[in-house]
This record gives sequence, structure tokens and C-alpha cells, in this order.
Amino acid sequence: MKNVLILGGGFGGLTAVSFFRKHIKSGKVNVTLIDRNNYSLFTPMLAEVVSGNVKPENIVFPLREICVKNLVHFVKDEVKKVDPETRKVICENGEYSYDYLIVATGSRTNFRGNLSAMKNAFEFKNITDAIHIKYLVIDSLEKASTMDDPEEKRKLLSFSIIGGGITGVELASEMNDYIRAKIKKEYNTVKPDEYDITIFEYAKTVLPAIDPGQAQKAQEILVNNGIHVVNGAAVDEVGLTHITYSINGQQYTKNSTLTVWTAGVEGQEYLKHMGGEATPDSRLKINKALTPQSIDAPNVFVIGDSCAYEFKGRFLPPVAPLAMQQGVMAVKNIIRLINGKEPIEFSYLHFGYLVSLGKNNSVVNLFGIKMRGALAYYIWKVAYLAKIGMFKKQVAVFFDWVMSFCFGNESVLILEQDNCTNCILQKNHKKPVKRMPEG
Ligand SMILES: Cc1cc2nc3c(=O)[nH]c(=O)nc-3n(C[C@H](O)[C@H](O)[C@H](O)COP(=O)(O)OP(=O)(O)OC[C@H]3O[C@@H](n4cnc5c(N)ncnc54)[C@H](O)[C@@H]3O)c2cc1C
Repeated sequence: MKNVLILGGGFGGLTAVSFFRKHIKSGKVNVTLIDRNNYSLFTPMLAEVVSGNVKPENIVFPLREICVKNLVHFVKDEVKKVDPETRKVICENGEYSYDYLIVATGSRTNFRGNLSAMKNAFEFKNITDAIHIKYLVIDSLEKASTMDDPEEKRKLLSFSIIGGGITGVELASEMNDYIRAKIKKEYNTVKPDEYDITIFEYAKTVLPAIDPGQAQKAQEILVNNGIHVVNGAAVDEVGLTHITYSINGQQYTKNSTLTVWTAGVEGQEYLKHMGGEATPDSRLKINKALTPQSIDAPNVFVIGDSCAYEFKGRFLPPVAPLAMQQGVMAVKNIIRLINGKEPIEFSYLHFGYLVSLGKNNSVVNLFGIKMRGALAYYIWKVAYLAKIGMFKKQVAVFFDWVMSFCFGNESVLILEQDNCTNCILQKNHKKPVKRMPEG
């Protein structure tokens, strides 16, 4: 029986887990999943945690439970090194050997060398990021509601999102819907012109990766909803209460008490030392069989955000459907190799995109059919509800939506800053954990 290790239980890794089931049953392989968390995150709904539309626990999936169902061993550990020569994976707490390996550890925030952003901006990648951001938005509303000076309120309620891709746009929209609804009711001493959400995007419009006409329309919808968008902007410095940015060489400063960085991702640190050729954002370049391009490791498959896969002359952007389709192909190729057959080439099926622009608005492109508005919004909801791979979580999210539709979203401060364990939030109202460059 061959030993298969899967590193990372996200979109790609979990797809592989479920496709291995029948091969495990037939006694062909023994599969182990290693992840540093014992849960998997459904990222497309992360922004809805900030607005309270969904509860955090309903968009995370218990990895151990899923592994037991699929006859896979689960190990909670952090991967530190992969050595394709000795066929070993070195983790924080142990070493693991493999015959076949699937690398699916996703990506991390790419601060593009901006040290001040690393120090002071929030990331938006994990469930705890969403919980912290939600906390700080509510905390700012609480403080602003006791202030008389409109200027002081504006300073405090100034939020910036760096990066106008899907993640940044969806986060801004959810924050905006939430704050708008809250200042109408509970925080009615705050006026609509006393808070500000600004998206900074280097391209000419937000959503530069989608159809330009739809991107332009999406930007208009955001602006109509009261979100500011600054295009052509390069963010130079992120401070505790301000950001500095440049447009055409001209520098500007803006208040910002909460800055979230959503401008790109990069491969995990350990991938840099695996030996394969990588892109500047540390994703391993792979060939059509999904194995690393420049090292002799036909038994190693790199999928999802960890890889750079060239399709029709360009590297595909890191998205969930790509990771899932590659997860299926990695399993197929491992089984083919075990059966003494040649691996087959991966080909990507692009469905389109779905971007939520807040309540009752979305831009959607499904197999070339473009839509926007309320219908697109409900298509977004149904499509992502269907994509949640666990029935009990689908039910829970559905009821979260029903509750928030009927009764609105709450504004309770559950994290207690002063008593927090592990110093989750620093007392000065800032970042939870700093990730500084090595060396
Ligand atoms: C806020 C947000 C919203 C998004 N929205 C969409 C969307 O609407 N549509 C879409 O298609 N894509 C979306 N994406 C992108 C999508 O989430 C990724 O493309 C997808 O998750 C990649 O899948 P993956 O399997 O490569 O990695 P992931 O799903 O990120 O899984 C990686 C796993 O590896 C684990 N891991 C990481 N490092 C280590 C380590 N060193 N040791 C052990 N375990 C490790 C992690 O805990 C995680 O469980 C979004 C991303 C974010 C952050």
C-alpha cells in the first residue's frame, strides 16, 4: 500500500481527500492530511462574518470529522520543510515520509515588501481576521457614538482597504452595509457623512481581473453606495491612524484607523526552499501533470494557490475552482502512477466569476452570461450556498441569512481586549499578531 500525504486541508486538499475515498477502501493507498488548523475555511463568505450575516463557526469545517468520514488520517501540524529527495515532510512536531505528496497549503498575504503595512495593516485571510475586524468596527462605532466633534468622529471612523480585487470589494461592501444599517438605528448620533470606507486600487477600476465593462459598473455601484474608491494609487506607508499614498508621483495622506491589506497573496515560506522554480510571488511553477517544473519529483503534485499554472499563455489567478479541479487531477494522476500508467494533463474549466457588492447587488459572469443587480446577488447566494461542501453548514448558513434578513445584524463586542488571552488585540486598538520579515 502506498503512503500519500496531503499538505493543507483547504479547497484543493479537501477535494483530494474526498476523491481518495474509494481508493482507500480498495486498499490501494493510505492517506494522511496535515494542516496547521483543525478546520478548513470557506473563504468566499469571510466578508459576511464582518457584517454578521453569517456566524464564524458556520463557515469553518471540522477537518478531523471530514477525515474520519473519508478514512483519512488527520494530523494537526505546521509544515516547515519538504525534501523531495528523501521524500520527507518536516513539520513543527514531527517528520512524515511519503510515496506520493500533494502540496495544497494555499497562500499568505503578500505585503509586497511594505514593512509599515506588515506592521500596521490587518490581513484578511483567516477566520480570526474577520472576527478582529468586526470587533474593531463595532468598537469604533461605540466610541464615536459618545463624541460630539464631527471631525473627531470622522477621524475615528475612517477605514481603508488596500486592494480593489474581489476580496477587497466584498469586504468594503459588507462593512458599508453593516455600518449604514447600524447608524440608522443603534448608533444614530453618527451621521452618514461621518464615516468613510475607501478602497485603494492601483488599476483604473476596481476588480481589474474581470470584464472591464462589469468592473466599471461595479465601481459605479460601490460609489453610489457611499464607498470611496481611489484609483491609480500606490500605498507608501500605513501608520496607526493614517495612510500615505501616491498618485502619479504626488503624495497624499488620509486618516485611517483601520487599514486592511487585500492587495495580493504569495506562496508559503517553506515553498521557497523546496528547490523548484517559483514566480516572484513564491508560487511553484508546475507542468501540465501538476508536478514541479524544475525538480525531478514526479511523485509530488502542487495545487491551488501554492502553484503557478500556465494556461493559454498566462499564470492563472489563485481561485478556489482551480484548486478544486487540480485536487481531482492530482488524485487521478497518483492512482495512474500507482497503476503503472502515464499521468494525464490538466486542463482548466473556467466557470466565470461571482462578486458580491453588498445587499441586493452583484456582478456575475457564469459561462459567459453576464449579470448584475438583485438577480445576480441571489445567484451569488445560491451558488456559494451550494458550494459549501457540508450539509449541516449549508443549513446553518441558510438560517444565518434568514435571521439577519428578518431581524438585522447584532453589534455585540464579544472579544474583550483587556482580558484577551495570547494578546489577541493589542490595547492600542491595533493589529492582533505581527508577521515581520525573517532575518
Ligand atoms: C477573503 C477571501 C475571499 C475569497 N473569495 C473567493 C471567492 O469568492 N471565489 C474564489 O474562487 N476564491 C476566493 N478566494 C480565494 C480562495 O480562497 C483560494 O484560491 C483557495 O482557498 C485556494 O485553495 P487552496 O487549497 O490552494 O488553499 P486554501 O484553501 O487556502 O487551504 C490551505 C490550507 O493549508 C493550511 N496551511 C497553510 N500553511 C500551512 C503549513 N505551513 N502547514 C500546515 N498547513 C498549512 C491552511 O490552514 C489551509 O487549511 C478568496 C480568498 C480570501 C482570502
